[in-house]
Amino acid sequence: MRKPVVAANWKMNGSLELCEHFSCELVRPEASDVWIFPTALHLRSLVDSFRESDIAIGAQNVWCEPEGAFTGEISARMVKNLGGQLALVGHSERRAMFGDSDTVVARKFKSIADAGLMPVLCVGETLEERESDSAFEAVQRQLNAVEEAWDCPDYSHKVIAYEPVWAIGTGKAATAEIAQEMQGLIRDHVDRRDSGEREELRILYGGSVKASNAAELIVQNDIDGFLVGGASLDVDEFNEICEAVKS
Ligand code: PEP
Repeated sequence: MRKPVVAANWKMNGSLELCEHFSCELVRPEASDVWIFPTALHLRSLVDSFRESDIAIGAQNVWCEPEGAFTGEISARMVKNLGGQLALVGHSERRAMFGDSDTVVARKFKSIADAGLMPVLCVGETLEERESDSAFEAVQRQLNAVEEAWDCPDYSHKVIAYEPVWAIGTGKAATAEIAQEMQGLIRDHVDRRDSGEREELRILYGGSVKASNAAELIVQNDIDGFLVGGASLDVDEFNEICEAVKS
């Protein structure tokens, strides 16, 4: 039985006041994991606030190396040192706007795992890829790039987030059928790599998840939780999504 996850990606939003508000108002999870990915500036505040709870805090992005002359960057080792437990990698905004190629994503993924954090690997197709019937090929290419960079491919203590690019921040979530179909294909792909992890691997869906669509998505067999962007900035809405996942 896979434990469901509700994860908040705050992107370049938030403030110390929002951190404080979440630490007071977020309803503690019962049977699911709740993770928050704030900006790097707000990591410390949330780690301190949630130290005594089950809520885990992670980075939205790290560089590939543990330390060195990389002005402006942070490393997975630093996130770990601060008390963070996870890091996103391969988010489509990083791929599209900051030049995170499949090769860079694979290097970052490895640095996150090597530092002892849990990587949450984001994959997803563009609208063009979906409309040309190559959605799964695109996702498979992104998965292959990361798997080929490992010495020993394994998905234990790792999470995949399927986030179709056309659904992110558009208000147009994938239908439950589309999300389930793709996430089933992702699970089959992982099974072909390493059969032992098929049932344990958690695969999240991300892309315009809201309180109003969470319930119909979470009942799908291969949707093990959500990566939530815009709706995660409102603690009441986020609590409602957590409630939908729990019940
Ligand atoms: C995201 O950025 O990971 C995301 C899913 O955003 P939104 O929920 O706003 O579509």
